[in-house]
Amino acid sequence: MQENIIIAGKHAAAQVSPSWQQQLSRAIRDPISLCQRLGLSDQWQPGAQEGHQLFEICVPEAYLSRIAPNNPDDPLLRQVLPTSKEAQVVSGYVVDPLEEAAHRPAKGLIHKYPGRVLLIASPACAINCRYCFRRHFPYSDNSPSRSQWQEALAYLHNDPTIHEAILSGGDPLAASDRQLAWLVEQLESIPHIKRLRIHTRLPVVIPDRIDEMLLGWLASTRLQKVVVLHINHPNEIDQAVVDACQRLKQAGVTLLNQSVLLKGINDSVATLAQLSERLFAAGVLPYYLHVVDPVQGAAHFDVPDEEAKALVSRLLEHLPGFLMPRLVREVPGRTSKTPL
Ligand SMILES: *Cc1c(COP(=O)(O)O)cnc(C)c1O
Ligand code: SF4
Repeated sequence: MQENIIIAGKHAAAQVSPSWQQQLSRAIRDPISLCQRLGLSDQWQPGAQEGHQLFEICVPEAYLSRIAPNNPDDPLLRQVLPTSKEAQVVSGYVVDPLEEAAHRPAKGLIHKYPGRVLLIASPACAINCRYCFRRHFPYSDNSPSRSQWQEALAYLHNDPTIHEAILSGGDPLAASDRQLAWLVEQLESIPHIKRLRIHTRLPVVIPDRIDEMLLGWLASTRLQKVVVLHINHPNEIDQAVVDACQRLKQAGVTLLNQSVLLKGINDSVATLAQLSERLFAAGVLPYYLHVVDPVQGAAHFDVPDEEAKALVSRLLEHLPGFLMPRLVREVPGRTSKTPL
């Protein structure tokens, strides 16, 4: 991650880490490089290419550095390596499992739950998770420009029951700080909005995203701030992630985490217990443990409900209550997540 840059002048060399934007633009985006980089045998390449055709690969170096080489079962690798299983057609697994298309009162806005709305602040992500429920999301229709936000902002102005704006995506922190600072300023000007929530995986994928620019607008808003991270496995939490969490906390942010229960990745009591412990050590409280949404291409990650419930009841014996995530599913048409 570090680059040696020779600085002209009297003082010889300094270590300068690339900006988060540079790190994102240098992410691995082709299946062969990913396989070769991690020392996987050639047998993985055809599947990786097949899956990549359906949902393109994206893995930044900072995340890659936490993956053990020569291990096709690495729990972080499995989240990002496409396989031929993604091409399987399984009944009940569909393109828009959450039926979000039906709840868009304005461009970039999803209003399904009372009191809060989702704003699609960026179509892009810094990583492409293979189980993602938005892998077929029509992003080109849903990343508004400033003028296109006006309709969504007017909707918020006109509905005094909305108290919380949730920046989502994609990954909202893939947007520039200029755009985000502008959007937050607009939200702040709506008196009934009290809370700003950000659902993001970027602090985990590229911890350098939590830089001075971001902390600047975040620390200065009148809104109460909640950042909901997305971490599925304890190996995702390295020192850089812990440091990024610290910076967010210092800016007055409440930190929560949501995970997805994924077969072969985190579906064991030991892994989930260690995840909660490491999250708390980093100042983050576990929030939700989601079962996989039935999105086409992700059926092979699904843990059956009975197994998921059994896992969570055994987890109760290992953790204090406040480190227990809530096991939930999203059911189309409901006005909240549904506990299992
Ligand atoms: C998950 C979700 C929320 C947030 O739900 P909480 O239970 O408050 O975390 C809001 N709107 C939509 C459309 C969602 O999918
Ligand atoms: S970061 Fe979130 S939205 Fe982006 S690909 Fe991963 S699961 Fe999907």
